[in-house]
Amino acid sequence: MKKGIHPVQKVCKVKCACGNEFEVKSTKDEIQLESCNKCHSFYTGKYKTVKTGNVQKFKDKYGITD
Ligand SMILES: [Zn+2]
Repeated sequence: MKKGIHPVQKVCKVKCACGNEFEVKSTKDEIQLESCNKCHSFYTGKYKTVKTGNVQKFKDKYGITD
């Protein structure tokens, strides 16, 4: 690899709005996040995924259970 043309990867502190902090490898010193895996509703379970897709509708209609 040529030297000097690749950005230096360093340990970057990621700060989330919820107060959670973790480290990743990045070219930046610090990253501010609005949501992370600790507070994002998808991971906390507050977010309701749509479970009634076409397949589920079909199964409900014909009474098919997994
Ligand atoms: Zn967070």
